[in-house]
Amino acid sequence: MTIDTVAVIGGGQMGNGIAHVCAQSGLHVRMVDISREAVEAGVATISKNMDRQVRKERMTPEEKEAALARIQTFTDPAEAAPGAQLIVEAIPERPELKYKLFATLDGAADPGTILASNTSSISITEIAARTGRPEKVIGMHFMNPVPVMQLVEVIRGLATDEATTEAVMELARALGKTPVEVNDFPGFVSNRILLPMINEAVFALMEGVAEAEAIDTVMKLGMNHPMGPLALADLIGLDTCLSILEVLHRELGDDRYRPCPLLRKYVAAGWLGRKSGRGFYAYGQ
Ligand code: NAD
Repeated sequence: MTIDTVAVIGGGQMGNGIAHVCAQSGLHVRMVDISREAVEAGVATISKNMDRQVRKERMTPEEKEAALARIQTFTDPAEAAPGAQLIVEAIPERPELKYKLFATLDGAADPGTILASNTSSISITEIAARTGRPEKVIGMHFMNPVPVMQLVEVIRGLATDEATTEAVMELARALGKTPVEVNDFPGFVSNRILLPMINEAVFALMEGVAEAEAIDTVMKLGMNHPMGPLALADLIGLDTCLSILEVLHRELGDDRYRPCPLLRKYVAAGWLGRKSGRGFYAYGQ
């Protein structure tokens, strides 16, 4: 299957990163968000991130302009879907939003189109059940920041077929990434392991075991992690971390995944990490 046009639904930090690497690899990209302002903000972020690549001489100014010219913007997923061979969803980590969107995409996309989700934890099998093409629904879980990180976790739902899996693995390689195939369980591999660690770091902070900087420094210098867990949570987004933990807790039914009350309190206060300017750390504009 030849993929030359990709629709990306959601132009936030993951969606604009996915659109960025697809456009940079020569694909035509249709990026969708809920409003003109949101989708234009996504394009502005891509432009700014490409400027950094130009300064580091990893891209020429001409390549940047050509890549940006391959990105079209939309505010209606149903309008962006026809003609795309692959659609990658990157909207917030809320099951009901994703279920509704996949039903819409199923009705609007060409019959052969693959519908992929960048979800961090939600069941691909359940998302697929909202469509009439479960064999063509798959998880394509990019890491943050997408242009920098090597891994794509490829998640097969119960009904996902071989051709869909192979097409997505091949596309990930064409984007310069390393795909790893995993099965559909809550949190897959990455967040099944990462989020309990982040949650434990928040419990350590709440219980006064140490200050945020001290917790992060122990994990950086002691365990050789490039970032401490609290700084990483701020990068992911505390709302996204909480949503993933809620999925793990509910779907695995084990209290070891219960979200730390301090994490809930930060999200309730709108302290979402870097994207809101404040999380476990404060960020300047
Ligand atoms: P984000 O909040 O930065 O962006 C979400 C975007 O989706 C926003 O721009 C919002 O306006 C838009 N949106 C909401 N509803 C929409 C709809 N119906 N149609 C089109 N656009 C819509 O969130 P994010 O961090 O980019 O996360 C997106 C997805 O990627 C989530 O499922 C998340 O779990 C997953 N993910 C996040 C990370 C991370 O580190 N943040 C890493 C891997 C995967």
